[in-house]
Amino acid sequence: MAKKTPGQCSFCGREDNGQLLFLRGLNAVICEDCVENAHLIVMEERGMADKPKKDSGLPAFSLKKPKEIKDFLDQYVIGQEEAKRTLAVAVYNHYKRISQKVTDDVEIEKSNMILVGETGTGKTLLARTIAKMLNVPFAIADATVLTEAGYVGEDVENILVRLLQAADYNVQAAERGIVFIDEIDKIARKSDNPSITRDVSGEGVQQALLKLLEGTVSNVPPQGGRKHPEQKMIAINTKDILFIAGGAFDGIERIIAARKSTNIIGYSANTEQALEKNNLLKYLTPADLKKFGLIPEIVGRMPVITHLDPLDDKALKRILTEPKNALVKQFTKLFAMDGITLTFEDDALNFMVEKAIEFKLGARGLRSIMEAILNDAMFEMPSDKKSSSLTITREYAEKRLSNNNSLAQ
Ligand code: ADP
Repeated sequence: MAKKTPGQCSFCGREDNGQLLFLRGLNAVICEDCVENAHLIVMEERGMADKPKKDSGLPAFSLKKPKEIKDFLDQYVIGQEEAKRTLAVAVYNHYKRISQKVTDDVEIEKSNMILVGETGTGKTLLARTIAKMLNVPFAIADATVLTEAGYVGEDVENILVRLLQAADYNVQAAERGIVFIDEIDKIARKSDNPSITRDVSGEGVQQALLKLLEGTVSNVPPQGGRKHPEQKMIAINTKDILFIAGGAFDGIERIIAARKSTNIIGYSANTEQALEKNNLLKYLTPADLKKFGLIPEIVGRMPVITHLDPLDDKALKRILTEPKNALVKQFTKLFAMDGITLTFEDDALNFMVEKAIEFKLGARGLRSIMEAILNDAMFEMPSDKKSSSLTITREYAEKRLSNNNSLAQ
């Protein structure tokens, strides 16, 4: 143990300035915070970890190295190698930044990030999985319903209310949580030029979001909704909250292609053709996001940018079976709870993949397809004492799906 001055915690080095309780032993001193953390570690080791309680300090939290973070993501998210690596590093740096005790002149800035990729490619899943791994509160906000305070719609600050609720009203835990802002591309302003008229659902929301991203103390009504004067407010500091935004940014490939070809004019006439559409996202820069309509300040506050690849048939098939909570595993378990052995023939899985591609919903479509195929069996079989197994063939799947009006148009 390093030698400390008498008034200093032997574990975290914090000075006793009279605000926290300090316990003194024979050769060591421990502060109140370290006692709490040690208690949580013991509880976790003994398998007695409890859910965080109101103001009970911070729940146990373990920071893993980028490689370990990526390994964890690999268990839940198929493909998306580049996004996983970038996210792992950003998250690692972010939590290193907020767990640093010593304050010197080097201020590490936040690693808020933007994920660009088609719908259903795993943007939300990545953010959610990271939060699960770190054991920090996680909230999703849909940018399309946000408006500036005072306008019809949801105040930007309501994002924090959701995070607070996810943290079971533990403010300290909420203050280092993760917020996923979905469909950030939908609040892009319509042109690259700042507008003269007010734009309450686009640029206005971006301005309101900016405050949260930069770090501010925001007073939020605990139950959400509009603020009113008599209401008790809870102050939340957003300085250490990690914001991850996601969006499809439809058409951004054109912006990238235009930039690429102007940069290399006179070099090769066919460069634009050579760059496959799907590969263009690799060349995404902050300038492209600005051109798309994000205000420069937002782009500046979300310095980590990465993209997700569209999911091809191979990836979709792996998604059905491989992740820890893959759909096939989930439904097999549901049936097993009724004593029924559910199996899928390989060609039935191919059929589901074909349909998901046809419906253009990415992996998001797989679940509704699976539900539609299994719905009859899930209705009938639990009351049918005689049947104890079900094998899904391509024919079975085709028939059930064509009977289902909601999916088979
Ligand atoms: P997005 O936010 O990109 O629109 P989501 O992350 O919400 O998409 O994905 C929808 C669902 O599809 C997820 O809940 C997950 O089950 C599945 N999914 C999407 N992409 C992947 C992936 N790369 N690996 C595993 N499952 C995925």
